[in-house]
Amino acid sequence: MAKEILCVVEIDENKIKKSSIEVLSLANKIKELEGNGTISAVVLAEEPQEFAKELFNYGAKKVYGGKSPSFKYYRTQPFVKTIANLINSSGDIDYVLVPGTGNGRDFAPYLGAKLKAGVIADVIDVEKAEGGLNFIRPCFAGNLLYWGKFNDSGVKILSVRPKAFPMPEKADNTGEYVELSVDIKEEEIPVRVLEVMKETGKINLQDADFIVSAGRGIGGPDNLKIIQELADTLGGAVGASRAVVDSGWISYDHQVGQTGKTVKPKIYIACGISGAIQHLAGMKDSKVIVAINKDP
Ligand SMILES: Cc1cc2nc3c(=O)[nH]c(=O)nc-3n(C[C@H](O)[C@H](O)[C@H](O)COP(=O)(O)OP(=O)(O)OC[C@H]3O[C@@H](n4cnc5c(N)ncnc54)[C@H](O)[C@@H]3O)c2cc1C
Repeated sequence: MAKEILCVVEIDENKIKKSSIEVLSLANKIKELEGNGTISAVVLAEEPQEFAKELFNYGAKKVYGGKSPSFKYYRTQPFVKTIANLINSSGDIDYVLVPGTGNGRDFAPYLGAKLKAGVIADVIDVEKAEGGLNFIRPCFAGNLLYWGKFNDSGVKILSVRPKAFPMPEKADNTGEYVELSVDIKEEEIPVRVLEVMKETGKINLQDADFIVSAGRGIGGPDNLKIIQELADTLGGAVGASRAVVDSGWISYDHQVGQTGKTVKPKIYIACGISGAIQHLAGMKDSKVIVAINKDP
């Protein structure tokens, strides 16, 4: 039986990241399978209260806000310290759900070590099992699935693969907002954020409905303009295989696959890509896959 399912929320450019809202869907599923549990969320930001209403609307009954200028950007130590303090002082939180983004993948194991709690990473589904729940995650580049189970009653930490769960339904809800006491001194944080460089004018690969992706088979960097033109025409984004990135034809942030991004567009057009398992690991859940290739 779950008492409280805490969802860790990531803020980017003053907005809640979509992957954090999806985490609330897994929380709902855990609550249904466990038969009970309160769904809560925690936001650490300069003005966390601004995000509470949206989280209530997506199903959180309680929102904890940690307010500090030190939370402007994610950094491991202050985030882990504040959320570990919340979990330790609450005593009711038994699940902690973290979006499986770059920051979430940094946060979840560190929190697990701090709390001496188990972590299952990259969860894509959950099902009822004897004496608890089984959490499902891909392994071996997505070729096998793994069923994992926690074997004690302590805090259970899960990171949740972006796009694995749908956005929960939105309704006009209210809930309880709890302000956390924050014990962070900027001079004690070992990392400073000096500059954040943003890409401009590009569609985020992970949010794109249409992706046109280039592989080595396009022949050279000059032909990328054809790929870009098709992506622009569809209102989509440009992806790439690792071969293209390693050849320096396009930057790493376009790479799709095991060591790149995981995407799930409505249509994925792979141009001159062989479909190595490491590439498939990042795009095989696309709704429709079109391969343009001389090799049938
Ligand atoms: C640990 C590890 C992690 C990796 N992670 C990733 C990852 O995240 N993402 C990733 O993409 N790869 C990854 N790789 C590399 C992966 O194994 C492949 O080497 C890579 O995906 C191949 O890229 P490609 O399909 O563009 O090139 P190739 O394998 O060279 O394929 C080129 C394709 O183009 C076709 N082609 C050639 N000429 C034409 C033409 N004129 N018209 C149409 N088609 C043509 C060919 O038939 C072929 O299918 C990883 C590898 C390892 C070991």
